[in-house]
Amino acid sequence: MSAVFVRVALDHPLPTLFDYRCDTSILAVPGMLVSVPFGKRHVVGLVCEVTAHSDVPADRLRSVSDLCTACPPVSAEWLKLTAFAADYYQRGLGEVALPALPQALRDASRWSRLFAPEERYSLTPQGRIALPDALPARASALRKLAQALAESDFLLAADARALHPKALASLAAWQDEGWVALDVIEAAAVVGSPASQNLPAPPVLPTLTDEQAAAVEAIRDADGFAPFLLHGVTGSGKTEVYLRALAEILAERPDAQALVLVPEINLTPQFEAAFRARFAALDGTAIVTLHSGLAEGERARNWFAAHTGRARIVLGTRLAVLASLPKLAIIVVDEEHDPAYKQQEGLRYSARDLAIYRAKQLGLPVVLGSATPSLESWWQADQGRYKRLTLSRRAVADAVLPTVRLIDLEEERRRGRASVEGLSGPLIAALKLRVERGEQSLIFLNRRGYAPQLACDACGWVAGCPRCSAYVVLHKPERALRCHHCGWEARIPRSCPECGNVDIEPMGRGTQRVEETLASAVPGARVLRIDADSTRRKGSAQALFSDVHAGEIDILVGTQMIAKGHDFQRVSLVGVLNADTALFSHDFRASERLFAQLMQVSGRAGRSGLPGEVLVQTRYPRHALYHALGRQDYVGFAGSTLAERRDAHLPPFVYQALLRAEGRTLEAALAFLQQAAAELTGIPAAERVTVYDAVPLTIVKVMHVHRAQLLIESASRAALQATLRAWQPLLRGLKGVLRWNLEVDPLDI
Ligand code: ADP
Ligand code: ZN
Ligand code: ZN
Repeated sequence: MSAVFVRVALDHPLPTLFDYRCDTSILAVPGMLVSVPFGKRHVVGLVCEVTAHSDVPADRLRSVSDLCTACPPVSAEWLKLTAFAADYYQRGLGEVALPALPQALRDASRWSRLFAPEERYSLTPQGRIALPDALPARASALRKLAQALAESDFLLAADARALHPKALASLAAWQDEGWVALDVIEAAAVVGSPASQNLPAPPVLPTLTDEQAAAVEAIRDADGFAPFLLHGVTGSGKTEVYLRALAEILAERPDAQALVLVPEINLTPQFEAAFRARFAALDGTAIVTLHSGLAEGERARNWFAAHTGRARIVLGTRLAVLASLPKLAIIVVDEEHDPAYKQQEGLRYSARDLAIYRAKQLGLPVVLGSATPSLESWWQADQGRYKRLTLSRRAVADAVLPTVRLIDLEEERRRGRASVEGLSGPLIAALKLRVERGEQSLIFLNRRGYAPQLACDACGWVAGCPRCSAYVVLHKPERALRCHHCGWEARIPRSCPECGNVDIEPMGRGTQRVEETLASAVPGARVLRIDADSTRRKGSAQALFSDVHAGEIDILVGTQMIAKGHDFQRVSLVGVLNADTALFSHDFRASERLFAQLMQVSGRAGRSGLPGEVLVQTRYPRHALYHALGRQDYVGFAGSTLAERRDAHLPPFVYQALLRAEGRTLEAALAFLQQAAAELTGIPAAERVTVYDAVPLTIVKVMHVHRAQLLIESASRAALQATLRAWQPLLRGLKGVLRWNLEVDPLDI
């Protein structure tokens, strides 16, 4: 018998495959998971090739120790997708492919249990109340266990055991108290999210508007690779277009699968409910979600459902773009402009861009939906590469787009008009009117905490982070100063640490302070704040949003978390505070982002027939961005901004990559980048690449580490890619910094 060799991808930065001998009785095929010795450990890898020959000398070849037979191999297309992502984003194949698999598969000791029944524990309603009080003060292991239970819908016995070897005994005791419930499920069986809401009866389908009908028809009739840019104003019924297009495509082929991406975990429950209601005829296990908020076991099961074809609709955040979907037939990317589609660490990929690649690879329709498309996508449509589908009106009869009014803060001041703590007179009056009428209002500002700075009037001291070159944010309810860059926390000092002055003052305003001001400025109003601080616990965001939907809230204050996607029925007023700062940012994308955010948040008003009004407080009422906003004119804004970008040679007219370095000193980081720039001179493709000076980041120091970056760009994507490919190995030879990373198509520069 001739020897068989496998070439395996491992989660390792070296962009090579690793050869192993494979003398197992089971036949290895590409796409299979294997356990292999690597150094002194055993690791899980993915078979990319099976060959009869290896260049590695026989005495240095080691053998595969185990093959995973419980999991069907991933497809050749999936391997190609991850290989593309690895090459495009300059990472090793295994660094892309293995993290995209569920944790349970990456641990060979768990393979044998993949299909065994699993016990899972969940908190009962009594347990939710009683358990926290019953825990002894010092029992940190028990606390962890209780927390794990509280934070997810259920905890698998295996996961509990991993937390603590005696966890099962405690769980049994809690079960006796009636605090914990136990049930047994088939591990590989797909279970729908138990948290899914009560489903409305199978809906009466709304009659599509002409524009919606045309969009659905175009998507349904698409042949082969067909990228669509669905440009629909807020409330125009983009979701309905997705639902109908999916229904048509899924009905055509009984095994077809659809992938629907949303930018934020918080939007998945709303989408999941809509999809479950619409596709109630499908088996409840045919719709699964994939996002980082799922418990490990649940995520593994949902991944399996997608991988084995049992799931027909996969709804997820950016990580779902790399799910294994053997029968994929359509991809939807909702709110395609959202920066959250870009992963900001590790593999810095854009899920939207990978969705496009995936659709192209498989010859599928892909629908990018937004009220404010990214300028990259808009430009693609301008050139005819994406087909534009337009929804220009709101879908609900009587619902019109809100009117936008700018409140000139300078003029308010000049005329001596009263304001309360940064809330102008007209805004307060408008809020009171809504409360009287029983309508809801949103106040949007992109700054959480109470005040961005705490300062001493007498000596000029400002509270700063000892680890970062940044001020710390005052958090009043938590009675703390917090660094938003590294998480450092301290108690609020009673007096100035420099001069002893006791009159230290919060400067500026964050969501907590506005919440406090509103309580006194609009007496009797029920005010709720939604931001990263008020939603730290799992499930709390969903609970808060449902209070808003239930009408138990009059005024909702929040950050961009409240701007996105939510279909609030009774909101008739949106107030915007503190938007001006983004007008003069050094980041050329700041105005695009601000415009999208303001259009999004404006779009929360007047969705169900109540006339909507948007009030923007500003010192620059004549700024072009606010004018475009006032006319709700995305097309005009996009046109003029693209013209500016073209003149200034900025994306999407050039392609960029960013090399970031972190050093113990700024000098070290800059020196590394200068060496890196020097290495470019030997690379032929780099002749078509512009190299900028290495510069410190705006927040140069975070956690005592100094950060700098080097931008390179080219009008030719191919030249940039060729340069990066040649540059990467040279960078590995350079020393002197703690870390460096390369980002392709960076969003924050
Ligand atoms: P978008 O995502 O474009 O902002 P949504 O999909 O949230 O808009 O739809 C806004 C509202 O319009 C929803 O309440 C939805 O149920 C409703 N809607 C969508 N299409 C129609 C239609 N054809 N007729 C009536 N109502 C519709
Ligand atoms: Zn002082
Ligand atoms: Zn810090």
